[in-house]
Amino acid sequence: MPPFAPGMVWLAGAGPGDPTLVTLQAAWGLAQADVVFFDALVNDGVLSYARADAERVFVGKRAGCPSPKQAEITARLIEAARAGKRVLRLKGGDPYVFGRGAEEAQGLVAAGVPFRVAPGVTAGVGGLAAAGIPVTHRDVNQAVTFLTAHDASGSLSARLDWDALSAGAPVLVVYMGFRLMDVIAARLLGAGRPRDEPAAVVSQATTPRQKVVQTTLGRLVDRADVEDLEPPVLIVIGGVAALAPVLGLAASVGQGAAAG
Ligand code: SAH
Repeated sequence: MPPFAPGMVWLAGAGPGDPTLVTLQAAWGLAQADVVFFDALVNDGVLSYARADAERVFVGKRAGCPSPKQAEITARLIEAARAGKRVLRLKGGDPYVFGRGAEEAQGLVAAGVPFRVAPGVTAGVGGLAAAGIPVTHRDVNQAVTFLTAHDASGSLSARLDWDALSAGAPVLVVYMGFRLMDVIAARLLGAGRPRDEPAAVVSQATTPRQKVVQTTLGRLVDRADVEDLEPPVLIVIGGVAALAPVLGLAASVGQGAAAG
């Protein structure tokens, strides 16, 4: 395993939820860290890999409270590292996928703090697989596009080219898209995607509360079938979404058999 020297920061992925989907490297880092800074999306089970006496610092968004600013989090990582601690920064999924991990890494580099990234299983690949949705299938798509619906201000990102996505992205995996789901679907329909195109909405993937709603692009516009879903939520648009009933069921039957 790579060395975790005092004064170093590890930027580690916690995976999509299930604590057994943490990499050996991240678990090994957790077992050594003096302090763990974690986000709201990090499962308690993953934190249990940390030393019992490690300091645990929540730096995510809590209901009703403003989230700490990104610069403030980076400053705290730098401060802890300079105090000679082994600092583990734990982020949901993979730290570099829509999680501002790269911004934190840039801050560490600028400050001259040694760091390592311990990649994680991103929700939009591993979480979907667990829900019965392969992000590629040879008969369906030769490309997959990951997108986040909103920009830093929370509104629909003006940088997305919906005509290009509609024409060139056979499968779209949308992170942080639940609130704007109807708007996204309307943009794709407006750019020419068919109403009956398969889609799926997956909430709390890989956790015991995982839910998979199989739907169509047209129904996403009406926010149909999704009222009971709790975040975090992924939206998948494209032919692979239609495989969920077959592969999702097979996976849960297999898990049941293994457990029983
Ligand atoms: N770095 C993370 C993503 C952070 S953005 C990763 O690589 O997975 C947060 C978004 O990720 C959520 O809004 C949701 O769209 C998605 N997400 C994360 N965990 C999820 C889960 N268990 N189930 C469904 N969506 C999830």
